[in-house]
Amino acid sequence: MSETIPITIDGVEVQAKPGQTILEAADAAGIYIPRLCYQKDLVPFGACRVCTVLVNGRPQPACTQPVAPEMVIDNSSEKVQTYRRNIIEMLFVEGNHFCMFCEKSGNCELQALAYRFGITAPKYPFLFPKREVDASHPDIFVDHNRCILCARCVRASRDVDGKNVFGFVGRGPHKKVAVNADANLGGTDAAATDKALDICPVGALMRKRVGYAVPVGQRDYDTKPIGSDIETSKAK
Ligand code: SF4
Repeated sequence: MSETIPITIDGVEVQAKPGQTILEAADAAGIYIPRLCYQKDLVPFGACRVCTVLVNGRPQPACTQPVAPEMVIDNSSEKVQTYRRNIIEMLFVEGNHFCMFCEKSGNCELQALAYRFGITAPKYPFLFPKREVDASHPDIFVDHNRCILCARCVRASRDVDGKNVFGFVGRGPHKKVAVNADANLGGTDAAATDKALDICPVGALMRKRVGYAVPVGQRDYDTKPIGSDIETSKAK
């Protein structure tokens, strides 16, 4: 049995490993596929669909789709980029993302993707939903205005921290992150040291009293675009 599976991404032949997803195979080959809900070491979730690629002409989420022989993957056509741009724009308008006031600015993956895709103003109308901030915990807070429902905190709390602090409640526009306590975050055993606190891609789940520790201009995406670490590995 062959030890690799040949696939083609944007005309480049890639030797993927059995069991890899398209996104993992692309990462290993130095080809960046944009993503938000995906996080290395967490179970893939397929929630955000920013990693949508065309597999033999059909849209598929690269983070959950396993590789198969002879796959021809389109990761860069205008059609694919338009799918992704639209999803990112929808994420901006369905929440309340005021980047200029958010301490995650410069470290935020949603903002960084908007820069990468050249989005200056979404074409969709802003919904301005009414959402709360849960600051009841002494060391951490959840700002539901900024949450993009990626479930990274849900998966990290369940699988890494072993606490199951976070989960989803509600459906459609009413879906939100909830906690496993009757009242609020302050009633849970969540701690500032939890992995769940490290992996929120936006400024929704944050530690208190550490904001602005890294000055603007020195943050992750202030000097290099999101995904450039993967693309740089291809050049080596
Ligand atoms: S709080 Fe952060 S990590 Fe959790 S679902 Fe919302 S955006 Fe994702």
